[in-house]
Amino acid sequence: MNLNDDLLLRYSRHILLPDVGVAGQTRIAEASVLIVGAGGLGCPVALYLGAAGVGRLLLADGDAVDLTNLQRQIGHTTAAIGMNKADSLAHSVRAINPEIDVRPIREALSGAGLQRVVAEVDLVVDASDNFATRHAINRACVQFGKPLVSGAAIGFSGQLAVFDSARAESPCYHCLFPDHADEPELRCAEAGVFAPLVGVIGTMQAMEALKYLAHAGVPLVGRLLLWDGLRTEARVMKVPRDPACPVCGQATLQAG
Ligand SMILES: [Zn+2]
Repeated sequence: MNLNDDLLLRYSRHILLPDVGVAGQTRIAEASVLIVGAGGLGCPVALYLGAAGVGRLLLADGDAVDLTNLQRQIGHTTAAIGMNKADSLAHSVRAINPEIDVRPIREALSGAGLQRVVAEVDLVVDASDNFATRHAINRACVQFGKPLVSGAAIGFSGQLAVFDSARAESPCYHCLFPDHADEPELRCAEAGVFAPLVGVIGTMQAMEALKYLAHAGVPLVGRLLLWDGLRTEARVMKVPRDPACPVCGQATLQAG
């Protein structure tokens, strides 16, 4: 990528950072990222990745904007009620940064469609809200060796982790959260969610994604961050790879 004068100005506060610089900003500009979910987490992720100049953003969501979303899903406006969320968020990202390519995918990605899109991007951000989607995204990321920035938020609490199955020490999502299809799932629609919580977790997902793309700092790989918003406390715990994991374990990968 050639950074012309306008782009040098637009990204100047990144370029000033020794950990980013022109080289890091160029890597960000040449990257493509899939964000699954254009809700509470997906909005801040997409707004920051778009503003920061990720060259190609794919936003996937099959839902329409609803009045109950607007308390926290900051990429959508009252005028967008009824509009597909991926379309609405793409519109907001383009208004901030018309220099990048933003492609809405107006469906809840799954199966072969999910695999096809994961295969073509450099990094995936899981901003979805259910276990089935999280596990499907994880399987596709392990299959194609793509880094995955995973976040979740409910009530006043959230969690964050980065998985990179290309690194021997990295667990995958399934190593931490084995599939229990019969486990009841907490949903924002029933449990509630504090508005800025999704901003905190989504913004940290954007931070990890941009760090990863720019090769800046130390990614949150092999660690899980737990955020308690009511007490304003964060805990980071080490999480190992599970050698017997049915998704990323050696036996599975060799068989596949
Ligand atoms: Zn695993």
